[in-house]
Amino acid sequence: MSTGPTSGDVRAPSWRTLLLLLVGVYVAGRGAVFFKPDGFPITTFWPATAFCVATFALSPARRWPALAPAVFVVSVLASVTGGRAWDLSIGFGVTNTVEAGVAALLLTSAGRRAARLASQEDFLRLLATALVAAAVLSLSAASVVRLLGAGDFSATVESTFASHVAALMTLLPLLLVLGDEPRPPRRGVELAAQVSVLVATTVLVFAFQQTAPIAIAPVVALSWAALRLGLPVLTAELGIFAVVASLLTAHGQGPFATALAGSDLRPLLAAALGQGFLACAALLVLPLCIAAERNAALVERITSDSLLFRRNFTESLVGMAFVEPAASGRELVVVELNDTAAGVLGGTEDDLVGRRLGDLVELGPDYHAALPRLLRGTQHGWRTEAPLRPPREGRVDLLLSPLSEPGSTPFFAVQLLDVTTAYTARRALEVAQKLTNATLDTTNCIILVTDLEGVVVRVNAATEQITGYTEAELLGRQVWDTGIAPPEARDLRALLDWLDDSDRTASHEADAVTRSGQALRIVWNSDVVRDELGRPSYAVMTGMDVTDERTTTGLVDHLMEASQSTAIIGIDTAGRISVVNSGTAHLLGYEREELVGVPFHRLLKPTELLERTGAESVEDAFDILVRGLGRDGETQARDWTWLTRTAGEQLVSMTLSVAQDSLTARTGYLCVARDVTEQRHSQEVLIAALDKERDAVDRLRSLDQAKNEFVSTVSHELRTPVTSIVGYTEMLRDGSIVEPLPDQVPLLDSIGRNGQRLIAMINDLLMLSGLDARTVHWRHDPVDLAATLTSVEDAVRPLVGRRRLALDVRRPADAVPVLGDRAQLERVMVNLLSNAVKFTEDGGTVTLEMGVEAGEAVVRVRDTGIGIPVAEQGALFERFFRSTTAQSRQIQGTGLGLSIVSAIVSAHGGSIEVESAHLEGSVFTVRLPLADLGPSRSAGSRVVEPAG
Ligand code: ADP
Repeated sequence: MSTGPTSGDVRAPSWRTLLLLLVGVYVAGRGAVFFKPDGFPITTFWPATAFCVATFALSPARRWPALAPAVFVVSVLASVTGGRAWDLSIGFGVTNTVEAGVAALLLTSAGRRAARLASQEDFLRLLATALVAAAVLSLSAASVVRLLGAGDFSATVESTFASHVAALMTLLPLLLVLGDEPRPPRRGVELAAQVSVLVATTVLVFAFQQTAPIAIAPVVALSWAALRLGLPVLTAELGIFAVVASLLTAHGQGPFATALAGSDLRPLLAAALGQGFLACAALLVLPLCIAAERNAALVERITSDSLLFRRNFTESLVGMAFVEPAASGRELVVVELNDTAAGVLGGTEDDLVGRRLGDLVELGPDYHAALPRLLRGTQHGWRTEAPLRPPREGRVDLLLSPLSEPGSTPFFAVQLLDVTTAYTARRALEVAQKLTNATLDTTNCIILVTDLEGVVVRVNAATEQITGYTEAELLGRQVWDTGIAPPEARDLRALLDWLDDSDRTASHEADAVTRSGQALRIVWNSDVVRDELGRPSYAVMTGMDVTDERTTTGLVDHLMEASQSTAIIGIDTAGRISVVNSGTAHLLGYEREELVGVPFHRLLKPTELLERTGAESVEDAFDILVRGLGRDGETQARDWTWLTRTAGEQLVSMTLSVAQDSLTARTGYLCVARDVTEQRHSQEVLIAALDKERDAVDRLRSLDQAKNEFVSTVSHELRTPVTSIVGYTEMLRDGSIVEPLPDQVPLLDSIGRNGQRLIAMINDLLMLSGLDARTVHWRHDPVDLAATLTSVEDAVRPLVGRRRLALDVRRPADAVPVLGDRAQLERVMVNLLSNAVKFTEDGGTVTLEMGVEAGEAVVRVRDTGIGIPVAEQGALFERFFRSTTAQSRQIQGTGLGLSIVSAIVSAHGGSIEVESAHLEGSVFTVRLPLADLGPSRSAGSRVVEPAG
């Protein structure tokens, strides 16, 4: 048979197959009718039913209506030709056809599945089909027999039920299995042995008139086939055995026929028992065989699966290893591994088997944490990427998966993937990425990276600083909408659209606006990043903030324009003018452009230049001028004569300095010159005025000198006559010439007193004119001031006379040595004391204290007199000064004494000061440098105690 129900689709069997099946129906039916017991309408077995059912069940349901008449006709023909009456034959034809239809419906689930025998479920369906179909047939056939009066109803039911169940259970399996894939015969010797046993037992059981209860023997042989030889062999043997056993039983042989022959059982029942036996045999061996086949198929699949797994393991491109827990339970040990794993771990299988996993790969603490869970079965797998342990080098991706069932000894598969190259590449990429990031973030320019749509994908730190926008605000926006990049992004679009590989960089300058609205001037450079195929992938825009530079340039321009009175000239190292301001042009009457490129020396007056530099030619003169100007050096400002455009002269004050930037050598020189014509003119006027003043001063000085000389001469001339007047007056007074009359005495006293005053005044005048003319000669003798006090007191005492005035001259215990003119120093003390006496009213006190204070000789004259108003004290030591108090009280005096005192004190290197107030007495203090008169005398050791 070429077709079979091996799939869910029921394919139509060929006409040849159908014909063979129908022939089978006929032959089996004809044979059965032939062997039916005499006097009975029905046969003892009916193998034809298996062919009828197969004809339907192996065909698609749509053909069944066409097949039914054929089955019916062949069935009738088999009966009629076997010798049955027409009516009975037609009746049985109908029942057989109905039975076949019912069985086919059940077997194929009304045509929805193929009729087959491959599983226990198929077997149960076959059994159910056999029972139901046989029941339908037996009832309908018994009804036909009854209807036609051909026999007993119940006997017919018994016999036909058994024979149809047996036929469907023993022959139909063969027809169902024949369509399956033919399998190559195996175990030929075993098959032969088993067939021999089957034939022998069948012959032994059924070929003789014997009653021994050994009918089970062929079933044992069939069980052998069921267990070992497969379904096709079994079904074939079962079918043949069933036919042979049925024929022999019908022929009166075998245990069933023999047993019945001697009993009073009805022949049909005997036949039914035989058929029941066959059905039971099928019931026994068919599920056994199906189970055995299933088992064999499973074993085969498992074997091939395990082979496949092993091949996969050994030939896998992934490193595979099996590991199991070490005795300690804290590590996993390699028990097997494939070549790839050995290669990844860097060793041979022999080296690696038995090694601990942790000794091969740096698994870290995670592994030791996960291991107990993996061993307990609470964690299903663990994965890591880790370096190999030295001396092995490299890095692996490791996946640990448990293979064992929970509860059994733990066993794990390890997958190892060499990721060294990937890891190295990744690290290299990370380093490159970091480098890129560092470069971007340390660049002091705006850097914007965009994709092909111009959407910003990367921004550097400087962009945030310069523009005030944060990265988040810029990312994802189209670059020409940001306000930073120029709004007309044609350049960028053009860059992205270029398809060639040329490395053209677009560059231009544009305005940008910061987040706070500040305007910036940016120079943009844009370029495209291309992939390995040369297609554009990103655009990089680099923007440099040149706002300050542009502003400075503007300022410089302004500076060059602004100053009109100052010339600023830039000179290159060759001495040519490179920059010139409008002040220069204005000063010299040139246009600015005319001066650029002109040698600088042309501006200077040649004769002056040659004279001042000593150069032989004006060309060399500039070099001499700037020679010796160091870095940041500058020449002194000096007046120079410049030549104007019309060869006129212009006086300027000029400096030259080195123009130099911080990095390079000198880049040129800067000349700054100022128009000083006006200034010089004013200076000349001033000098003339000063000259005049000097003349006047000289004249005044000679006048003063003439006056001094006059005073001196007059004083000299006066002194002699006054002295002789005073001398003669004394002679007249003391009566050495003639005794004066009593009335004359007061007159003579007055003449004498006034004469003395005149002499004092003349002496003062002479002293002052001597001081003025610097003709006074000071002595430099060691003088003990203390020792002078006696003569000083003697000179002053007469002035006190009969006045009620206490004069207290306190002598110091130690000497008060100074260097100077003793007479002049005495004069100082006499003068101060006489003033004190003169300006102190009766009842007052005049005190002189002397001593050494702070290394100086100190003379202090104190009185309780009329004092000097504080406002007038500034003029106290000027000539002819007289206080208002002295004048109002008409106390006589010339106002020359204190100026002479002051002159003497300063000539001795000392100082004089006064403390006084109106009507509160006065203190005059004179300080003089102490003279070192010997080692035993220590200066400054004594302090003058104030008078008590
Ligand atoms: P004369 O005493 O001749 O006027 P002086 O030069 O000695 O000239 O003094 C100038 C003036 O200073 C005096 O006229 C007087 O007004 C004032 N004077 C000087 N010594 C004293 C003093 N001890 N007490 C008050 N006034 C004094």
